[in-house]
Amino acid sequence: MLLKVQNLQKSYRLGTRTIEVLRGIDICISEGEFLSIMGTSGSGKSTLLHILGGLDTPDDGDYTFNGRNMLDLDDTTRSWMRANWFGFVFQTFDLLPDLNVIENVALPFQYNSVDPETRETLMYTAIERVGLSHRFQHRPGELSGGEMQRVAIARALAIQPKCIFADEPTGNLDSSNTDEILQLFSELHLNGTTIIMVTHDSTVAAFSEKTVEMKDGYLH
Ligand code: ADP
Ligand code: MG
Repeated sequence: MLLKVQNLQKSYRLGTRTIEVLRGIDICISEGEFLSIMGTSGSGKSTLLHILGGLDTPDDGDYTFNGRNMLDLDDTTRSWMRANWFGFVFQTFDLLPDLNVIENVALPFQYNSVDPETRETLMYTAIERVGLSHRFQHRPGELSGGEMQRVAIARALAIQPKCIFADEPTGNLDSSNTDEILQLFSELHLNGTTIIMVTHDSTVAAFSEKTVEMKDGYLH
């Protein structure tokens, strides 16, 4: 098992009110799976994905990834895990506007232990993989939405992550770009990449291998 979560809990305090977002999440994900986490807006999908990706911590529960206890790490180790094991793709692409394609794809390598020569090869291979070899020098503002998301996917892929976490990756794309991005995810999945994708849209979730639904703080 690549990822194992037991009884994960998370609440937010807003003034005197407490919102229980995750009440007891249990989930196991094997290497190579393409899983969708569905649920309505506000059901806690992003909260869960951020915890799984080591961007946030739960209040309670257990989480092991690749045999490591993810909830028992200092900040430096957690950053190392993210930079070496995890790829992230967000709805808003999250590219740096002043950097070109290759520079954006290079960002995760700041905290990655791969040597510089291998880095170059990995970056160019990832950009080629998403079909953007003709766009190396372009900045995000000179790209379409679909192309920007491809850059984000190349950035996620370049470090050869053990898992890609995608939060509503097609939420800002039109239907033809949505199809292209989901097709790309399907191909990556067929080549063995593990993908956990959050979406509120069942037609998007249909591209994955398996779907679970977040409701009332639990996964069903
Ligand atoms: P989803 O991604 O499914 O739309 P989220 O995980 O973003 O849901 O949010 C789940 C609930 O937690 C929502 O009610 C949201 O308002 C609340 N929430 C999320 N982040 C915070 C925060 N930092 N502080 C307070 N409440 C939050
Ligand atoms: Mg969300």
